[in-house]
Amino acid sequence: MCAARYRYLFGPVPSRRLGLSLGVDLTPFKTCSFDCIFCQLGATTDKTLARREYVPVDGVIAELEDWIRSGARADYITLAGSGEPTLHARFGEVIAFARRRAAIPVALLTNGTLFADPDVRRQAAGADVVKLSLSAWDPASLERINRPHPDLAFADLIEGQRRFRAGYRGALWMEVFLVRGFNDAPADVTKIAKLVKPLRPDKVQLNTAVRPPCEPFAAAVPEQELRALADLFDPPAEIIAEYSRDVSAGARTTEAEVRDMLERRPCTLEEISRVFGLHRNEASKFVGRLTRTGRARARSGPDGRTYYVGVRPGRRREDDT
Ligand code: SF4
Repeated sequence: MCAARYRYLFGPVPSRRLGLSLGVDLTPFKTCSFDCIFCQLGATTDKTLARREYVPVDGVIAELEDWIRSGARADYITLAGSGEPTLHARFGEVIAFARRRAAIPVALLTNGTLFADPDVRRQAAGADVVKLSLSAWDPASLERINRPHPDLAFADLIEGQRRFRAGYRGALWMEVFLVRGFNDAPADVTKIAKLVKPLRPDKVQLNTAVRPPCEPFAAAVPEQELRALADLFDPPAEIIAEYSRDVSAGARTTEAEVRDMLERRPCTLEEISRVFGLHRNEASKFVGRLTRTGRARARSGPDGRTYYVGVRPGRRREDDT
């Protein structure tokens, strides 16, 4: 069953890394300790280190229970979505419930900024897979690339990740996001690789800005260059950036439907999410692909909101100005 009728669940969405993944969103949109230049969700609106119960755990668990009872299936239940999941003060309870009740492995996608906190490490340790991000090698590069909360110290972040790995028995995947001209020089990637190696990751994954990033200057590293950098890691990194547009049949269908609707009437991202029952994250991916391929464009509406307008090949819309 699709999670369209839920507030905190989205998908299941096809994911190259996790197969069919049911998303669990534990924070309001763009609540994060970082404001990465490459973030595909846009600018962080609430940059914070405050750990709170941003959404009610009881509500999340009730939705998970309903989804499980419906007989729906997924390869993973994944804590991810609109911000940093470890900012949620009780994210570990969601992990524990999902593992116990659904018998589906649970993945936690995190920027790893809060692992200096023993409570975060304890809660995260319940996940079957923890995917940590690390794209900087010192305080200055962290500042340029991830634009952290001012109270976040690079040394604490690294030490927190090290301590987490020391006590974690599940699978640890490291994602390194490379941006052209910021952290793709082989000497700098080697420095990141040196920080990654002691964490003994089960996988290292290289990603780059193939989807529209937060900042237009955050450009993708070409595929050939990324492949050459992969061997600097131990174990050698796999490339997870989706350079090609080969998406799943389900995703293709939805992209065509989104495009058809935008050709009929301009819509905001929120409207697209609502009409198709997509998480905003997924809706922004479709809109990103359509604008990048010239099949849609952004336009300011009279109400100050951004609307997306479908562009038919070889034809200008009457309302183009
Ligand atoms: S990429 Fe992840 S860590 Fe960076 S700002 Fe976006 S949500 Fe936060």
